[in-house]
Amino acid sequence: MKQSELFTKTLRQAPKDEETLNAQLLIRAGYVNKLMAGVYSYLPLGLRTLNKIAQIVREEMDAIGGQEILMPALHPAEIWKKTGGWDKIDVLFKIKSRTEKDYALGQSEEEVVTPLVLGYLDSYKDLPKAVYQVGWKYRDELRSKSGLLRGREFFMKDMYSFHETQTDFDKFYTIVKQAYLKIFERVGLVAKVTEASGGSFSQKISYEFMVLTDAGEDNILYCDACEFCVNVEIAKQQAGDTCPKCGKGQLNAAKASEVGNVFDLSQKYGQDFDLGFKDKEGKKQFPIMGCYGLGISRLMGVLVEKFHDDKGILWPRSVSPFDFHLINIARDSRVADELYIALQRENYSVLYDQRDDSAGQKFADADLIGIVVRILVSDKTLKEDAVEVKPRNSDSAQLIKTKELSKFLKNK
Ligand code: ATP
Ligand code: MG
Repeated sequence: MKQSELFTKTLRQAPKDEETLNAQLLIRAGYVNKLMAGVYSYLPLGLRTLNKIAQIVREEMDAIGGQEILMPALHPAEIWKKTGGWDKIDVLFKIKSRTEKDYALGQSEEEVVTPLVLGYLDSYKDLPKAVYQVGWKYRDELRSKSGLLRGREFFMKDMYSFHETQTDFDKFYTIVKQAYLKIFERVGLVAKVTEASGGSFSQKISYEFMVLTDAGEDNILYCDACEFCVNVEIAKQQAGDTCPKCGKGQLNAAKASEVGNVFDLSQKYGQDFDLGFKDKEGKKQFPIMGCYGLGISRLMGVLVEKFHDDKGILWPRSVSPFDFHLINIARDSRVADELYIALQRENYSVLYDQRDDSAGQKFADADLIGIVVRILVSDKTLKEDAVEVKPRNSDSAQLIKTKELSKFLKNK
């Protein structure tokens, strides 16, 4: 894509009411635009990164047998009344139609997915099953000041699994946990998993996937020697205590953002809807259900909180909106024009800055936008029949002969 064709422009200043770095940088660089507190539009650059994260999530969910579906966000009130959520869930957005009928906006989709899936499952032979979707969620959050970390409309992957037995759920949970850790690793993050705790509504155990960041809204304690990690909200321990798990390490306090969550829903939803399956004896049983959330837009915000410097964003390669930021500051643009075509022919995605701006402006924009690798063509590099290649996260550039660029990039 040619940068001159982008309808967005970089901004020198972030809006005054944005307190967090993720929102400030993403707005300034033209990734998102704020409609109101907690509600953002995703612009061409932002949608590319959001889609890349979503794609990684899809690949890992598909790899463990998840089947992708897309459920409605507009729900009849009745299903929420059936499970108690209508009165108990404070973040549930409620809507009245012109004919005075009540509706809710999906803040999670157990109420939709349970009757949906159980409508197709007859016997234990049909189990286990796992379905997931990637889409918007709506929550009436009181405080939405953390940019993408806490939206009122936000992008989430939610998966739901159905099992014959608790043992089968436990087995699947371990598989999902590994898939989640892989997702976080693929986007360049290390996530800690909190010890099981009671979920507020379902009353069953839940596990949280936490990424350490000062922008996060959770306080956790984690062991410096083993994997132990707890949410302070529920913890019996304090910072400085000896780890209750390994007995060797010490517990450190840290701020973190919850990027994923797993709930053991037990048989609640099957019971609420009075829907089940026939077991081996032909008797009706309610399935054990699991729910697995992953905040895709929150993850995008967390990535910016983790990977930035004073000039802008530093995207990890896997979620960079483009593979290369090609910048021409040479008087003659022919070499850069040819490179733009050639790189795309090799299936790289390229943002090409051929604008009529100063070199300083172009470099500043490239640093702000944060594409993982910059390729520069200047009068100086042209004299050497070369281009300059610089990773966003490094200060040193390499001069590469233009003819050898393709090979060089492949080997990198
Ligand atoms: P939190 O504790 O942060 O309020 P939650 O425990 O209510 O989140 P879940 O209902 O488990 O979250 O949702 C699954 C995932 O969706 C969370 O782990 C998080 O990554 C993401 N998420 C939840 N609420 C928001 C929000 N308001 N904005 C952005 N992402 C969110
Ligand atoms: Mg939580």
